[in-house]
Amino acid sequence: MAGHVGTDNDLTGDGVDNGSGEHMARAARRDEAVRAAVEQGLLGPDRPIVGLLDVTGIRESAAELRAAFDAVTAPGTPVLHAFAVKATPLVPVVRLLREAGIGAEVASPGELALARAAGVRPEMTVLDSPAKTPAELREALALGIAVNADNPQELDRIDALMRSATSRSPLGIRVNPQVGGGSIGATSTATATSKFGVALRDEGAREWIVRAYADRPWLTRLHAHTGSQGIPLSLMAQGAAETYALAEEINRSIGRRQIDTVDIGGGLPVNFGSDATAPTYAQYARLLSEAVPGLFDGRYGLVTEFGRSLLAKHGTVVARVEYAKSAGGRSVAVTHAGVQVATRTVYVPGSWPLRIAAYDAKGRPKEGPEVVQDIAGPACFSGDLLAEGRALPLLEQGDYAAALDTGAYYFAHHYAYNSLARPGIHGFAPDGGGGVAFATVRTPQTTAEIVAESGGAHADGLTTL
Ligand SMILES: *Cc1c(COP(=O)(O)O)cnc(C)c1O
Repeated sequence: MAGHVGTDNDLTGDGVDNGSGEHMARAARRDEAVRAAVEQGLLGPDRPIVGLLDVTGIRESAAELRAAFDAVTAPGTPVLHAFAVKATPLVPVVRLLREAGIGAEVASPGELALARAAGVRPEMTVLDSPAKTPAELREALALGIAVNADNPQELDRIDALMRSATSRSPLGIRVNPQVGGGSIGATSTATATSKFGVALRDEGAREWIVRAYADRPWLTRLHAHTGSQGIPLSLMAQGAAETYALAEEINRSIGRRQIDTVDIGGGLPVNFGSDATAPTYAQYARLLSEAVPGLFDGRYGLVTEFGRSLLAKHGTVVARVEYAKSAGGRSVAVTHAGVQVATRTVYVPGSWPLRIAAYDAKGRPKEGPEVVQDIAGPACFSGDLLAEGRALPLLEQGDYAAALDTGAYYFAHHYAYNSLARPGIHGFAPDGGGGVAFATVRTPQTTAEIVAESGGAHADGLTTL
């Protein structure tokens, strides 16, 4: 591989490779797309930042997810893979996944609207947010969307709705198996004091849950999501095992198979240290089927809610180097990608390091001796760095810096600091003639739109008070 991709030690993944060469092909497609984006004018002096999505790669990941669970479930087991829309809340992405047989997990009225705009059917949709209003619950039940109640107060609201109308919605309760956290506190959901779900190990909680199901024959699902990035697979499997054991206990105590579906959440971690997919869906599904065989023997339907692992490695944000300078002996490339597209990385760089690839002004992988440099963003605070002290071929004015593996929770998650515009996003795929074809996913935000979203219609709103 070309030496244009910078990593540092704490970026290195666990080195597991799926051995298919898939990751080499992915890197090659990315390099071709960056060059084509420059050639076709998607990137340039007046368009200094763009998000790119690898349609081929997204389709591959969707197919790998389905195949991984098909390989370990009894024939005929209903399995719904619901994409966690929060990972990449873009309608064309949700539609692409829908075409690949993937549904949607939504956690806000906005995400539900995106899923509906993408044409995801209610029976392929799951609503999970921790703060659902009565109106949201009423809408979900009217549409027939699956809902997982987060807590007893929410269950009270659902009770009231179920008394006044019938609903096709599969309903469940979210539990927190309290199996512990991973390496990143902010994405660990199964800690003792997590805000999500019913804390299973708290005093009286288990008895309350068993009774809640016994009292409500329409509660047919059980849900847990043990965490996102930073959770070891063994802990995720433990979360699934605890959830399965609870479902068995509830069904035993009621004396029939009332819970017919277990929702195991998402959270497969992503390797940000190299192009390899590690761990793979196949590895995780195999581990789960060994750790919790009863979950896969056909007695339970399954729901999964993967987000990051479906999209992260298929997104790249590419930004022009506006200026290349030196400060205190350090080379600094001032680019157009910073906190607005990589918020977590900029604010918590230790937990969210990103690989950076260097391209020249024509979008070709940059060669040359590596120089330790900072890759800075455009925002007006000194911590706005995509990467600090990274060894890469020296970035010069007019070159491009690409932040890799940013297809989930990055450029689709705009942060409006400095009123920086949301960049345009394009999907890419082979054009059939040896080149690269692009399709618009999201147009770049205009300054007029920024003004409108910033109270432009109410300019006199305060002066006339
Ligand atoms: C965020 C979230 C997911 C997706 O997590 P990933 O780490 O992106 O796979 C799934 N389910 C719930 C309830 C979530 O909050």
